[in-house]
Amino acid sequence: MKDIAIIGAGFSAATLSYFLKKDLIFYEKSRGVGGRCSTRRVDNIGLFDHGLQYIKSKNLEFKNFLGDYTIWEGQFKIFKNNELKEDLNKERIINENGNNTLIKNLFKNKKVFINKELISLDRKNDYFQLNFKDNTQENYKTLIITAPYQQAFNLTKQFTENYFAKLNFSMQPNLTLMVAFNKSLNLNLSAISFDDDDVLGFAANENTKKKILINKDLELWTIQSSLKYAIKNIYEYRNNKKSLMDEMLRSFSVKLKIDIKEDNIQYFDIHGWLYAYSTNLETDNCSWNLETANCYWNEDLRLGICGDWFSGGNAESAFLNAKKLAELI
Ligand SMILES: Cc1cc2nc3c(=O)[nH]c(=O)nc-3n(C[C@H](O)[C@H](O)[C@H](O)COP(=O)(O)OP(=O)(O)OC[C@H]3O[C@@H](n4cnc5c(N)ncnc54)[C@H](O)[C@@H]3O)c2cc1C
Repeated sequence: MKDIAIIGAGFSAATLSYFLKKDLIFYEKSRGVGGRCSTRRVDNIGLFDHGLQYIKSKNLEFKNFLGDYTIWEGQFKIFKNNELKEDLNKERIINENGNNTLIKNLFKNKKVFINKELISLDRKNDYFQLNFKDNTQENYKTLIITAPYQQAFNLTKQFTENYFAKLNFSMQPNLTLMVAFNKSLNLNLSAISFDDDDVLGFAANENTKKKILINKDLELWTIQSSLKYAIKNIYEYRNNKKSLMDEMLRSFSVKLKIDIKEDNIQYFDIHGWLYAYSTNLETDNCSWNLETANCYWNEDLRLGICGDWFSGGNAESAFLNAKKLAELI
């Protein structure tokens, strides 16, 4: 029987692979590694970091773990009360080949099975039987789940219901627009955070990330919605991409006082993240600030769960929570 199975291949799983010097097998339901640290590669257009935009961290151990990275430099602004103000947040960590390269590097030479979705678990004597969507089964003595909260809970509730009943997590959606313009918008900005806007949350000019694989004749923007707008539109977004893009771009152009013509758009798509950010319902707070590292570990069953959502809701918290779990195993 194999020893340790890890479900998911995002930041948390990459951290486990770094700290657990054991034979690990990873199962990832999507087509590649990265999870929400995700980069869309579009032929003849370029790269959009349509998940994680940049990393903030002062933690040296975390920076060593990231390996190759660049600091995103340029003009960063906050849109608040109808005005653009300086965003004084200093260091933003990115990767010139797209942010998911940070994770791809860490999974090099690891045993990762992609397109492999765990749909249920059965407990047999002293091991878990893992049942996958493709009707295959595998048996493991130790199982670690790194999926977002709702998915982790659904898979494990027969073992973890009492533990999670004490907690009050939820995960919130995001709609992310990727758009390539034929002509520059001439904004002279790298990114804008929209404070309390009904439609927009954050917008990044991908060309300012020194990206290598980008069509230099185009200007690429990744524009994230506000939470309010995502909650309203997430379930129907696949049928409404054009109207959502129109509304988001209208809002963008009004706020930044620019004119965006239809014939300036070379490419667009919208991605809906059902589980983008974690919220602690007790504090009614999108818990972006790092709290104490946390995870779930049941020594008797040899079942572990970790993820950014146990605290913080960002890459650094995914790292710290997974590191804590690795120390317990
Ligand atoms: C739009 C957006 C913007 C963001 N911006 C930032 C930012 O600027 N800075 C920052 O630090 N963080 C940001 N984040 C958050 C950051 O991406 C996450 O904190 C981090 O990537 C979480 O890593 P993780 O491994 O814990 O979870 P995930 O990345 O979600 O990894 C879990 C993996 O498990 C897989 N999985 C789930 N269920 C199953 C199953 N049943 N079987 C097999 N595999 C399964 C998933 O496909 C996924 O790959 C952003 C997130 C989003 C969505």
